[in-house]
Amino acid sequence: MTKNKKSELKIKAIENGTVIDHITANKALHILKILDLPDAETHNVTVAMNVSSAEIGRKDIVKIENRELDHKELNQVALIAPKATINIIRNYETIKKDKIILPDKITSIIKCTNPKCITNYENEPITPIFNVINKYPPVVRCHYCEKLINTEDIDKQFE
Ligand SMILES: [Zn+2]
Repeated sequence: MTKNKKSELKIKAIENGTVIDHITANKALHILKILDLPDAETHNVTVAMNVSSAEIGRKDIVKIENRELDHKELNQVALIAPKATINIIRNYETIKKDKIILPDKITSIIKCTNPKCITNYENEPITPIFNVINKYPPVVRCHYCEKLINTEDIDKQFE
């Protein structure tokens, strides 16, 4: 076993839940915001930041106990961490391992950056829908006003 491997294995294994691996370094906290897990401790979430990775250099890892992320949640994660892999754990075993794939169209928790967009109307807000223009790095276009939203704009919404 190489030294590299050892440091990757430091975080404790979970019995049941989801492990999000290969998150772009320093984006783990954005992921927690997306998944509405503001307080890591009470939700049994373990976060490892800036771990060395053979595949992507530096990465973050998030482990969420007793929760299996659904498709919609994974799509949101893909906006922030397009190279992430998802491991569903049951009884300490990985029963499913998948690369995250950003779909062509996303109903998103991010907001259109055009203040005049119909999705930002205060009285009758419409759920934002975005067409994915580029998957890595993620760039999306508002379905309603066609405003282009780049990776920086997306990240800013979670800072
Ligand atoms: Zn818009």
